[in-house]
Amino acid sequence: MSQPGQQFIVYIGTGAIALFTVLRDPPAPTLPDPASLERQRQQILHQGRTESYQDIINPITDPILLVRNARVAAANPAAAKVLGDHILGEDVRIAIRHPAAADRLANPDAKHTGAPILLVGVGSADQRWELRIHALQDGLKLVQLSDRSSHYAAEKMRTDFVANASHELRTPLAAIKGFLETLEDPKAGKDDATRTRFLKIMYDEADRMQRLIEDLMSLSRIEAEKFELPSEKINLRDLVEEARDFYINSRGKKEKEIQVAFPADIPLIYGDRAQLAQVVNNLLSNAFKYGKKGTPVRINVAPNRTATMLKLSISDEGDGIAPEHIPRLSERFYRVDKGRSKSIGGTGLGLAIVKHISERHGGRMEIASEVGKGTTVSVLLPVVNNAPSPRESGNTTS
Ligand code: ADP
Repeated sequence: MSQPGQQFIVYIGTGAIALFTVLRDPPAPTLPDPASLERQRQQILHQGRTESYQDIINPITDPILLVRNARVAAANPAAAKVLGDHILGEDVRIAIRHPAAADRLANPDAKHTGAPILLVGVGSADQRWELRIHALQDGLKLVQLSDRSSHYAAEKMRTDFVANASHELRTPLAAIKGFLETLEDPKAGKDDATRTRFLKIMYDEADRMQRLIEDLMSLSRIEAEKFELPSEKINLRDLVEEARDFYINSRGKKEKEIQVAFPADIPLIYGDRAQLAQVVNNLLSNAFKYGKKGTPVRINVAPNRTATMLKLSISDEGDGIAPEHIPRLSERFYRVDKGRSKSIGGTGLGLAIVKHISERHGGRMEIASEVGKGTTVSVLLPVVNNAPSPRESGNTTS
């Protein structure tokens, strides 16, 4: 005997995709033979009963309706939750207040290809649904709603990101072009002081574009590698000391401006050296940018309470951040004070990069801040004994 689930789906009709999911794994040990099933189904349809379908649609997690003569003949609990308990027996044009969907459901001659109709405003205001209509036999229509909110949210994030990135790049480019045109003017071009001032602005704007492009490329590289566990054993102490030496030797910081504390025996972590150096650098750079001039920046490395993670914290004594901004700081291009960030050379991508790198390492980023006192940004990374081994996880990079 062939599979009971497969036999049944053939007799329900080709459009019953949602029912197929349930019937693929039939709970009943035996089913009547297909001919008797078909006879029963015909009887049910001729009596105008849809109750027998109810058992089939009830466990489906997508909202499902059965519609006959423009009225809701059956609805599963998921549909009642989204559209309301009152929909049973209701005119479908009232149950689903969407002109295109209602028109097709109420029209007995409408052809149903199963192509999706986008519904907005059903359930909560920001939910997006795709509605598909499948014609069963004898005028019965199966309506399936699929929640596509997260897909549309991801798509919106992508388009917003492209729009923001273009805007961020266009601003310095427009400045460079504007000053170039001014310098073409023989009067301004010949005046040495003006020329020097304009050229300096153009260099600064070009630097800003370069930093933006580098950060955008970093983000896309991190995204591309997000499922690859880093495999190199790293001592965070080396990376922190390298960054401190760089700020002292090349950025003119004094020793007392960077205070560092390590445990005596620092556990190793699996890491991507270049990415972790970028984390230390972005956090140090923010602490200097937003910390009060002359106050020290503190770097602290310590295991967490359970010794499963190593916590790298960088603290400053700056103006701090109001609590309502904190959850949004790792969004790309989110800044508390746009003008300030831009005037000190920020791209608005530093913390987004830190968050993505932490997550790629199986860790996380945390921000604690007090207005008027300062900010601590921490990154928690699993120590080698606690991290999934790159080899065990099938990662072949070495
Ligand atoms: P930016 O390039 O603007 O510094 P980031 O992604 O590094 O971008 O940070 C996002 C925003 O978070 C900054 O514009 C700033 O408003 C805020 N911020 C980050 N670090 C600090 C800090 N240490 N103190 C105060 N505000 C901070």
